[in-house]
Amino acid sequence: MGTDTSGYRGRFAPSPSGPLHEGSLLAAMASYLDARAHHGKWLLRIEDIDTPRVVEGADAFIMQQLQALGMHWDEPPVWQSQRIPLYEDAFARLQVGGYVYGCACTRRTLGNDPYPGTCRQGLPEGRQARSWRLRVPEGVEHFVDRLQGPQSQNVAHEVGDFILRRADGLWAYQFVVVVDDGLQGITHIVRGADLLASTARQRLLARLLGYKPPDVMHVPLLCDAQGRKLSKQNHAPAFDLARPVQTLQRAWKTLGFELFPAENIETFWQRALPMWAACQHGDSQ
Ligand SMILES: [Zn+2]
Repeated sequence: MGTDTSGYRGRFAPSPSGPLHEGSLLAAMASYLDARAHHGKWLLRIEDIDTPRVVEGADAFIMQQLQALGMHWDEPPVWQSQRIPLYEDAFARLQVGGYVYGCACTRRTLGNDPYPGTCRQGLPEGRQARSWRLRVPEGVEHFVDRLQGPQSQNVAHEVGDFILRRADGLWAYQFVVVVDDGLQGITHIVRGADLLASTARQRLLARLLGYKPPDVMHVPLLCDAQGRKLSKQNHAPAFDLARPVQTLQRAWKTLGFELFPAENIETFWQRALPMWAACQHGDSQ
């Protein structure tokens, strides 16, 4: 197998905007199995940096859900909201390197990505910076996703200079996730396929900050009958904690594995683990 089993550090990083639903459980399960199959560590990070979306008590509930399903983290959880000085330090390092510039554009004056670079050479006369962007270097980002295969993106052309700090003063998701993964020494990321499109940006940013970009695996998303990703915004219901084995089995099946009988959550994990590990070995070249 191609993956080094020593020093594996994985993580699950939910945003506490509501309880886990069956869609977010897939990412939790896959990242947990992968960490255990590699005899690695599995960390829990509460991504509560987007404070307007945080629901009070959702973090505690998510932890309760994970525990009830037998998914136990190996180090004390961290909350992004308690790590602001770390983000300020990383931001300052990028500034010193000349990789940050202020942007006066408003959402109204901009279309969708890519950002046209309006403020790259300096703010327009008499305007003040509202947000802060990364000066994205030229070049194509190549990487191999363990499930989705080879990927490439020219971030400068396809996304443009992306936002590190938003006009409302909050740190952008793309930035804090890279700082956290770097500082926590994360070696492997297993998460939902909706984040595949963010990976090139995050790898580029990681290197600028002096971190080795983690290996990635993006697992399928669950969609509702309208084809929309199951999400808290779509009011996907929390899964049934009274029937943990059935909940795990449903997620397992959605990940593409064959069902097997399990009397309780312990036997579920005991049997699922070698199956996950065997599947990963078969995949690696
Ligand atoms: Zn601008």
